[in-house]
Amino acid sequence: MMKRNMTHKPEDCLILFGFAQDSPAPFPPGSMSLRDLSPGYSETLENSKLSQASISALKLAVVQVIRALVQQNKRSVVIFFGEKEAASNFFVLAQIRTALPDIRIFMAGTGLSTFHVTRKLAQGLIDVSIRSDDLPTILDCKKRLKTGASLASDPRIFWKSEENWIRWNRPEPGPPKLGTVLLVIMPAWNEEFPPYGLAHLSASLKAAGYGVKVLDLNLEFWRTQRKEEADIVSLQNIVLWSLPERFESGPKPRLVGILETLERTLKSEEFCAVGFSLFQTNLLASDEGFRVVRKVSPKTRIICGGPSCTPEWSKQALADGNTGNVDAAVFGEADTSLIELLHQWDKENPEPVKGVRFRGLRGTLLEGGAREPECLALCQNPDFSELPVFNYSRLVLPVHFSRGCVGKCAFCFESFYWKKHRSVPFNKVLEMIANAQRDYGVNHFMVADSLMNGDHAALGQLADALIDSGMNVSFYGYCRADQRLTPELLAKLKEAGCSEIFFGIESGSQRVLNRMRKGIRLTHAAKVLRNTKTVGIRSCVSIMVGFPGETWWDFWKSAYFVLKNSRYFDNLVLNIAAPPEGTPMFQERDSFDIEFRDTHSRFWKSKDGRNTLDVRLLRHRIILRLWQALRGRWANAAIWDLEYETLRE
Ligand code: SF4
Repeated sequence: MMKRNMTHKPEDCLILFGFAQDSPAPFPPGSMSLRDLSPGYSETLENSKLSQASISALKLAVVQVIRALVQQNKRSVVIFFGEKEAASNFFVLAQIRTALPDIRIFMAGTGLSTFHVTRKLAQGLIDVSIRSDDLPTILDCKKRLKTGASLASDPRIFWKSEENWIRWNRPEPGPPKLGTVLLVIMPAWNEEFPPYGLAHLSASLKAAGYGVKVLDLNLEFWRTQRKEEADIVSLQNIVLWSLPERFESGPKPRLVGILETLERTLKSEEFCAVGFSLFQTNLLASDEGFRVVRKVSPKTRIICGGPSCTPEWSKQALADGNTGNVDAAVFGEADTSLIELLHQWDKENPEPVKGVRFRGLRGTLLEGGAREPECLALCQNPDFSELPVFNYSRLVLPVHFSRGCVGKCAFCFESFYWKKHRSVPFNKVLEMIANAQRDYGVNHFMVADSLMNGDHAALGQLADALIDSGMNVSFYGYCRADQRLTPELLAKLKEAGCSEIFFGIESGSQRVLNRMRKGIRLTHAAKVLRNTKTVGIRSCVSIMVGFPGETWWDFWKSAYFVLKNSRYFDNLVLNIAAPPEGTPMFQERDSFDIEFRDTHSRFWKSKDGRNTLDVRLLRHRIILRLWQALRGRWANAAIWDLEYETLRE
């Protein structure tokens, strides 16, 4: 119940009571009530859709509210949602925002969900949200925001900063027993959800007694570009990020802002190490980050990890003794390796660490050989508290059901990175999900596994556990189109909340699939697609053109597969065969009869000269046009067209 204590005067603020306010009148003097202002309104609170009659009634109420705000020269409005959210209240605040864009809108109520609060902030419909019905608390918060005073550590408050970031009060971590590590991710990477690897490393570091700060400079980069109205579609072209000459003239000049953020952060406190996550699309940008660390804090050690931190890459990066770019390269899973590395650096005489190549005393290179895969029952659950969770483009959190893959496809590094497939014990998955629901109000998850169905029995058990838990979540992820993904298992996944599956089918020719070492049968794949559609799960199919040995006949079979099965899947992702370093196709290039023009994985041709980049681009374009003809213009087509042009130049 809202407290009626009016010792605080609203002054420049209008108090507006929404429909969900269950306190009886009289309302405090000077306030307005939507119920009183719109007698023609007839929906119940549970109604999420408004009838035309109710919309008309609400519009009349909005006119009166806006008139009051203007006539009384109010600069902010607090709208009370009471203990329930109501569609009518959201409608009213959207109308006020449209009519008076400069007015400050506070949304208050004990029952507000994190999802609605953060989405309304992200959409710019409100400026502050307070999960409270206590008017004095709300007015006090308003006053503190106005004067720039701290919002203390009230976890009920969410607000938008001057720079347009959604802020909230996170629990303050205690002082670290050991040093603090700065974890950084540079662009270009996806900005849909927080980087899972960094959340995992944060948890491991904290459990070992280290302090952690995470800088998602990838997210900051894309937000800045949007604000500056840059051509985002052009910038998403991965060729610009991975070809040095294109990078110099394209994205590099745009990194100034995020490199300044890195510099400011390094100057603001002392870090015992800075860790960078490396991917093919951020290697060049990360190099710029290394330079900033070296310039601002030459004694701080630089550690790299991630899929593109390969033994091959690290040879160069660690080559120049004390003047090289980085101090350590962690290969594969870093949960334990990173902690052991930091411990060794604390010693006078560091010893080699498994899974790491690093500089010891006076620049000597130490290497500890391969590390066994981590035991997932012992790994920490991810800790997202250092990440700006509510500022990503979707309110989705990544989770893991497993690590590794049972396949060994020739173009893919997943198996080589994770080594062995292991399922996360399902009670641990439930715990991760429960933590995310409790801390962030998130119910939608991206399963960040190489594939969800590496172990069909374990996946079935997890689906059962999710159904029994009544957690009411939705999730999506990758699967192999394997016949063991039966209609029964798919139905169970649907019931557990699976909303979409990505299938890497890659070719419509069994001969090419065998050359790819995909380990799937086309007949099974088509059946799995049909069954997925039948149980009501959306699906997305990936097709790769131009794999070594793919003839025009094989290619037309892929086109036919898309044509024949397109009614069973919802989206298509097209790839051009381009093996990252470390994959069998890259390592065993002779047995695949291919040669590389330079190190960029896009530039290879078959030794007989029949499979060139031009041929692959042409095949890519043919299937793209086919898909567009089947489904209308595909939203992502522009990116591929751009890549096509860039590569041809
Ligand atoms: S392409 Fe998919 S199935 Fe093949 S190895 Fe990679 S993750 Fe596994």
